[in-house]
Amino acid sequence: MRTRLDCTTCGACCTNPEENRAEGFLYYVEVDRSCSLLYRPDLRKRYVVEDPEGIPHLRMDPAQRCSALVGKLGKRVRCSIYEHRPRGCRLVEAGSLRCLQARQERGIS
Ligand code: SF4
Ligand code: SF4
Repeated sequence: MRTRLDCTTCGACCTNPEENRAEGFLYYVEVDRSCSLLYRPDLRKRYVVEDPEGIPHLRMDPAQRCSALVGKLGKRVRCSIYEHRPRGCRLVEAGSLRCLQARQERGIS
């Protein structure tokens, strides 16, 4: 049975994992071609960056948080492009292994 967790007091999976950073991967969530974010020029300019191969990804801020994440990790957060978030974001389930790993990495119990 999965633990019920509140994403609005977390935000851990909206940050680039340590494992990625250690390997020098600065591009985290890929923005799939069907994502509405790509078809809103204002949002695309602000929140999307292309990797050296031209594949769009969510833009990370200098702290390696998604640039669309607002608030303080582990306290109160929200996704400022929730309706436009890419498929990868929609696939993470609260309470899943990936979720729990992200929380642990960020020190969120
Ligand atoms: S790590 Fe889990 S609880 Fe935290 S925001 Fe992501 S899915 Fe929600
Ligand atoms: S787009 Fe929203 S849900 Fe996806 S990583 Fe960024 S803040 Fe999190």
